[in-house]
Formats: sequence, C-alpha cells, structure tokens
Amino acid sequence: MERDPVCGQVIKLFEMKDSTVYKGSRYYFCCPVCKKTFDEKPEVYADKEEKDPPKSDDKQLRLFR
Ligand SMILES: [Zn+2]
Repeated sequence: MERDPVCGQVIKLFEMKDSTVYKGSRYYFCCPVCKKTFDEKPEVYADKEEKDPPKSDDKQLRLFR
C-alpha cells in the first residue's frame, strides 16, 4: 500500500490510478488530478514526505493498515 503524497490518502494497489518517479522515488496517486498536481510542483509534495518520515513503528503500522 502506498500513500498519495498530494491528498494524503492511503491507496490500495487496485485503487492506484497513476504513478510518477521523482528523484528516484516512485509516488502513487489515487487519481490523475493528484498526479497532475504533483507534476506541477513535485518539490512541494516530495519535500513534505521527507519532512515527515515514517520513523516510528506506529506510523509504519498506520501506513500498512
Ligand atoms: Zn489523491
């Protein structure tokens, strides 16, 4: 399971509508609109991810729930 960096939604594999690669990381999106938003300003959303890394086990669990 991946998280949509634009809207923050957790996306199940079968719900993924689109993905893109930015700085060697792949990002998944729930809809083409989120992908478009990301592609316009990838640094905004990619940085957001980096500022909030899944450092605690609690967060990891939430990501995979
Ligand atoms: Zn989305």
